[in-house]
Amino acid sequence: MGKKPMPPLTPARDTVVDLLVVGSGTGMAAALAGHDLGLSCLIVEKTPYVGGSTARSGGAFWIPGNPVLPDGGDEALALAQTYVRAVVGDSAPEERGAAFLDAGRATVALLERTTPMKFFWARGYSDYHPEEPGGLAEGRTCECRPFDASVLGSERPRLRPGVMEAPVPMPVTGADYKWMNLLVRTPAKALPRILRRAAQGIGGMLIAREYLAGGQALAAGLFAGVLRAGIPVWTETALVRLLRDGDRVTGAVVRQNDREVTVRARRGVVLAAGGFDHDMGARHKFQSPSLPDGASLGSKGNTGDAITAAQDLGAAVALMDQAWWFPAYAPLPGADPLVMLAERSLPGSFVVDQTGRRFLNEATDYMSFGQALLERERRGDPAEQMWLVFDQRYRNRYIMAGAVFPRQPLPKAWFEAGLAHRAEDPSALAQAIGVPRDALTETFRAMARYAETGVDPEFGRGASAYDRYYGDPTIGPNPNLAPLDKPPYYAVRMVLSDLGTCGGVVADEHARVLRENGEVIDGLYAIGNTAANAFGATYPGAGATIGQGLVYGCIAARHAATARA
Ligand SMILES: Cc1cc2nc3c(=O)[nH]c(=O)nc-3n(C[C@H](O)[C@H](O)[C@H](O)COP(=O)(O)OP(=O)(O)OC[C@H]3O[C@@H](n4cnc5c(N)ncnc54)[C@H](O)[C@@H]3O)c2cc1C
Repeated sequence: MGKKPMPPLTPARDTVVDLLVVGSGTGMAAALAGHDLGLSCLIVEKTPYVGGSTARSGGAFWIPGNPVLPDGGDEALALAQTYVRAVVGDSAPEERGAAFLDAGRATVALLERTTPMKFFWARGYSDYHPEEPGGLAEGRTCECRPFDASVLGSERPRLRPGVMEAPVPMPVTGADYKWMNLLVRTPAKALPRILRRAAQGIGGMLIAREYLAGGQALAAGLFAGVLRAGIPVWTETALVRLLRDGDRVTGAVVRQNDREVTVRARRGVVLAAGGFDHDMGARHKFQSPSLPDGASLGSKGNTGDAITAAQDLGAAVALMDQAWWFPAYAPLPGADPLVMLAERSLPGSFVVDQTGRRFLNEATDYMSFGQALLERERRGDPAEQMWLVFDQRYRNRYIMAGAVFPRQPLPKAWFEAGLAHRAEDPSALAQAIGVPRDALTETFRAMARYAETGVDPEFGRGASAYDRYYGDPTIGPNPNLAPLDKPPYYAVRMVLSDLGTCGGVVADEHARVLRENGEVIDGLYAIGNTAANAFGATYPGAGATIGQGLVYGCIAARHAATARA
C-alpha cells in the first residue's frame, strides 16, 4: 500500500457551533457524545495529525463495569468504587472517581454505537494495586480489536503515527504483546497469536485493508466515528485564547497558518489539549529540574496551551508535580526514549543505580516507579544513573524494546552511544558502567538467592499479581526472579520518561473547570491530561488515563447539552 498524500487542510473560518473541542485525542469522544446528543461540534487540533498521545499509546482503557467486561453489573461497580477510594485516598475529590465510574458504562456503549470499533477484555491484565480492597488480579482493562484503518479513506494520512509498531505489518494488541514476548518460553501460546495477527496484517494488505492495534486502532476508530458523524476537524489550528461574555466562556480564538479566527461555542468549550509534556520550563518548575529535554513520550504538540488559557481566566490547577511516569530505554542522541514494558519484570534482570544496588521492586507499575525515583531525589539521594542488568540467558529468552528478538545482538548504536555495555563477569560489568564492583557483585549473588527461594525480601518483586502479569509463567517459584549466571552480562541505560503529564486544570464531577475558590467557570470543561488526574496521584490500572479522558469527554458533552445556549 503506497503512502497516500495528506488531504487538503480544512480552512478555518469564523463560525458558530454548540460545542468546541480543543484537541483530537480523547477529545474525539467528547465530540462524538456531543453529536449524539444533537449538538453541532467542531474539533480544532494544533498539529497536522489527529490522535495526540492517544494514537501513540497502547490503547488500553480502564473503565470498570463497562459492557465489554464479563461483569458489568452494579456489584462490579461497587467493588470498583471501593478500589478507587482505596488507591486514590484523598489525593483527588471522591466525586471525580464516583462520576467516572457512573458514566463508564454509557461511555463504552456510546463508542460501540457511534464508531466501528469493537472492544475486548484484556483478561489477566491485573489492576496496578490488586492487593488493595476492591482490586482485581484478573483486571478491568479493555482494548480495541484490530481495526481496519482503510475506512479512513483519504483522511488516513492524518492519523498520528504510533510509536510501538511491530517490525512487520501486523496488528499487535497489548494482550498479544505479553505472549509474543514469551515466544521462546511458551510457543504454544505465542505462535497461534503471531500467525493470526500476521495473517490479519499481511493478508489484510492483499485485500486493501490495513489492520492497526493499540492506540493506533483506538484513535483510528474514534476518528472514523468523527468522520462518519460529519464532525469537522480543523488540523493545524491551535487554541490561542478563550473568549468570554461576563463570567461565561463563549468560544475561542484559534490560529491556522498565522490567521486568527473566532469560534463561538453556544454550549461550551471542552479543553482536551493534553498535558504540558513538552513545556520543559513548567516541568522543571513543578516536577524536577533534572528531567531531560525530550524525555517525554507524550505527543509533541502537548505544551500545556489549554492549561495556560484556562489559567488566564482564573482556573485553578492541581497535581502539577504529577505525570504518568514511565521508566524507558535511554534515548540515542536526538531520538525519543524507547518503550520498556515487560523487561523490568522478566526474570534474569534487575535495575541498579550508581551504587550498584537495587533500590525498588523493578516490576512495580511505571507510575509508582517514577514517583519512587522523584521521592529519592527530594530526599537528596537521587538515582543519578539507572541500569537494567541482565545475562545472556535473559537475552536468549525475551524480546527487548519491542524489536530486538531473542538471541539477536543488542543494536550496535546502543554500545557506541554508551547506552549498553557487555562484560564477561559482574566485576567487569561494574567497571564498564562505573559502579562499585563489590556492590554489583553482591547484587548478582542476592538475586540468585532470591530466585531460589522465590522471595525478594528487599523489595517484594513478584509478590503482586500485577508484577506477575509481565513475568515468565514457566519460571518458578517466582515468575519474576531468576539467577543471572550465564555470561556475558549486559547493562542497558534507563531514563525516567513519561506518557504525558497528569496535573492540570481543576475540574469537577461534570468536567467543569473551577476557580481557586471552587466556583465554576461556566461554559468551560477540561478532560484528559488537560485536567488534574481524576485519580489524584495514582494510576489504578492499565488504561486509566485514556479511560478517564473518554469518560470525562462524554460527561462534559452531556453537561454542555443541558447548558443554556
Ligand atoms: C507510548 C505510550 C503508551 C501509552 N499507553 C497507554 C495505554 O495503553 N493506556 C492509557 O490509558 N494511556 C496510555 N498512554 C497515555 C495516554 O496516551 C495519554 O495520557 C492520553 O492519550 C492523553 O489523552 P488526551 O486526550 O489528554 O491528550 P492527547 O491524546 O495527547 O490529545 C491532545 C491533543 O491536543 C492537541 N493540542 C495541544 N495543544 C493544542 C492547542 N493549543 N490547540 C489545539 N490542539 C492542541 C495535541 O496536538 C494533541 O493532538 C500512553 C502514552 C504513550 C506515549
